Formats: sequence, structure tokens, C-alpha cells
Amino acid sequence: MRFDVMTLFPDMVRTVLGESILGRAQTNGIINVKCHNIRDFSTDKHRKTDDTPYGGGMGMVMTCQPIYDCYMSIVGEIPECESTRVIYMSPKGRGFNQSVARELSQYDNIIFLCGHYEGVDQRIIDEIVDEELSVGDYVLTGGELPACIVIDAVARLKDGVLSDAECYLDESFESGMLEYPQYTKPREFRGREVPEILLSGDHKKIDEWRLKEAIELTRSRRPELLLAHPELEERLNNKKKK
Ligand code: SAM
Repeated sequence: MRFDVMTLFPDMVRTVLGESILGRAQTNGIINVKCHNIRDFSTDKHRKTDDTPYGGGMGMVMTCQPIYDCYMSIVGEIPECESTRVIYMSPKGRGFNQSVARELSQYDNIIFLCGHYEGVDQRIIDEIVDEELSVGDYVLTGGELPACIVIDAVARLKDGVLSDAECYLDESFESGMLEYPQYTKPREFRGREVPEILLSGDHKKIDEWRLKEAIELTRSRRPELLLAHPELEERLNNKKKK
């Protein structure tokens, strides 16, 4: 899967995504992340990429021309038969979550536009963007970290990005609820013991304990998730009956 990021700060994205699991996935050619400096496409003699807002007001707005030319150069590299989604990272966008990540993982290519300052001229959004996505109800200084969040969440759903040991299937939100608590060695830390059941070797009982913990955690922290998945509590009742 290919991700193209249009940004004024390509090193921010390269640095974040070049490490750890996503760095390995790029080295192995499972994902391809290409960062494009919007400034390189500016036809302004001072390579300007922003200007003052029409109508007055504070701050600067990113101009259409360099973004459009950057976009066209990326599109020129993508075969026409491949599916492509163009996303503007924006606090005004649809809320990003695990099901949106799953939806986006079906595309061959995603092109991200990262805003800065007051954002981008509305006309470039109208011209090239399929969707605006927000990573939460707060305002960040730029779209680079939000784009990294989306790329990370989408890429780890692709086959081969996670090893078997890192498999995502049990994780929070994949099953519709939060994940159960995890423990590792040593058995005791500052007087806190690992729950006895996890040392029992009884996998049926361990599964039942994990499901119960996951449901309780979800009920106390994110009750709305359980309301959307009443079948999860039924699953626990069925496990207990068996
Ligand atoms: N003036 C904009 C507004 O009030 O909606 C905020 C602009 S923000 C300072 C600069 C850029 O950061 C945005 O263009 C967007 O790309 C990115 N950004 C900030 N917060 C974000 C969020 N919660 N989700 C996604 N992108 C965000």
C-alpha cells in the first residue's frame, strides 16, 4: 500500500514513520511512504506557500497553486487502475477511529494533505480532497502528526506489517471493546502479583477471565461501545455456561 504525504515539513513525517514496525514495513516493501515538500512546487520567486486571508483576520492560509501542482505530480505516478483516496487532515473532519482505519486499508493509495497555520484555501479542498479527517476535538499546529496517526493505524492492518506475535486481532476496538489488562515477568512487582488465573495454564478459564476483564473495563470507561455491541456480554454468558 502506498501513502503520499503533502507537507511543508516532510522530515517530521519521515522521522516518525521511519522507526520501529513501520520503518521495518517500509524496508520490507510492504508499505511505501513518500513525503512531498509542497514548497518544492511553489512557482513564487520566494517559494512562498501561504498568504494573508481574504476578508482579514489573523494568521496565514496555505495557497492553492503549490498544493495543486504537488498533487498532480503524485497522481502522475499512480496507475489509473488503482484505488486512491485523498484526505485533508483537519479538526473539522470526520472523527478518525478503528473502523475508519479498516475502511481506508482497502485502498491501494492514500494521499494526505497536511495543513499548517490557519489551514488551506477552501478551493484546494473542493478541487482535490475526497474527505477531511480529524484525529480528535483539539487543534494541533499542523497535519503531519495526524497524518502519521492515520498511516500507523491503517498500515498495521495490512498483511505482513505486524508479525504473528504483534497480531492486532485481540486489540482494543478490533473486537468492539477495550483490551483486557496485560502482564509479563516478573510474577511480583513491588508487592503486586500477576492474577493467579494467568499462571494456571487453563486456556479456557484464561479466555473467560480476559473477556470478563475486557467487558468490565469497557463498561467502566467506554460504556457506549458495549451498547453498540450487546452480543459481547452474551458471549461471556455463553462461555460461563460451557
Ligand atoms: N484554523 C483551523 C481551524 O480552526 O479549524 C485550524 C488550523 S490548525 C492550527 C493547522 C493544521 O493542523 C490544519 O490545517 C490541519 O491540517 C492540522 N490539524 C490541527 N488539528 C487537527 C486535528 N484535530 N485533526 C486533524 N488535523 C488537525
